[in-house]
Amino acid sequence: MTWQQRWHPLREEWVIVAAHRQDRPWIGQTVGEKAASLPQYDPQCYLCPGNSRVGDRRNPAYDTTFVFDNDLPCVGLDAPTDLDPPAGIYQNRPATGIARVVCYSPRHDLTLAQMPAQDIEGVLRVWQEQYVDLGRRDEIAHVLIFENKGDVVGVSNPHPHGQIYATNFVFKTIETEAAVCRRHLRETGRALFADILTAERQDGRRILLENDSAIAFVPYFARYAYEVYVAPKVTHASVAALCDKELADLAAVLKHVLVKFDNLWQMSFPYVMPLHQAPTDGGDYAGFHFHIEFHPPLRKPNLLKYLAGPEIGGGNFLSDTSPEQKAAELRALPDVHYTEDR
Ligand SMILES: [Zn+2]
Ligand SMILES: [Zn+2]
Repeated sequence: MTWQQRWHPLREEWVIVAAHRQDRPWIGQTVGEKAASLPQYDPQCYLCPGNSRVGDRRNPAYDTTFVFDNDLPCVGLDAPTDLDPPAGIYQNRPATGIARVVCYSPRHDLTLAQMPAQDIEGVLRVWQEQYVDLGRRDEIAHVLIFENKGDVVGVSNPHPHGQIYATNFVFKTIETEAAVCRRHLRETGRALFADILTAERQDGRRILLENDSAIAFVPYFARYAYEVYVAPKVTHASVAALCDKELADLAAVLKHVLVKFDNLWQMSFPYVMPLHQAPTDGGDYAGFHFHIEFHPPLRKPNLLKYLAGPEIGGGNFLSDTSPEQKAAELRALPDVHYTEDR
């Protein structure tokens, strides 16, 4: 029985692990999955090659990846800058930045999990270019690259794609991680994430895969049942600093994790997947270790992890599952995607 609090060193907060609660009776809502058989090309899809988007814009007939500025951005360079000051102690500032969409493949029916590792490597190279291109701009303080996947995280278009928010501010989680990593480096001379990797390898039970230069594991302090971190073993501030060998190794580990996820319940597994990279505001981020985090919202087939009293009301996560058990579950699954195994 796992019933304890675990310290999340990157977020500096406690996670309550109460794994004995996983089997409590559930009479609430469940989340169904559409049995999807998708076409390779959908004439209605605004992400497919050659199709039209909002306004008069049209996608090129791309055959690998395709990046474009989001037609309806949350942050934009034309956001108003002459804001009226709010009352009293309140503050505001312009929501400027650049929002982009990254199509991973021209194929409407593929997910990252179904793409060959070399095509995933192609996506990693696009992320490298984007981080460098957007990060070098004076008005950009941070480049947040992420993918939301699945209806349950609000994505209705199955065409494989991710997003980029390059902003005039640093997102809160990154700001916290950067501050914690800086302090850890000053106090110990080591990168915090490298110490996390050391602890994970000392224990070993939560590691899903490692090759020469990349590793995947369910962190000791996981907040979601199937939370997984994927990272290079050497400390690099961003994906842009990885050499060819490290990119190939990282793509192989990513592919492995994505296949495990889909094989878990033989469904296209939903998740939020952010890349955590150092800000590009010119600060010193020597201790920042680039990593990719997977936050899957399901804790059972068709059952969402709801954020409620402890998480929304109190600010600490309550996990109903043991990270060791979930890692063992994922490790036991086949390495071949279930759709290719028929
Ligand atoms: Zn499409
Ligand atoms: Zn992180």
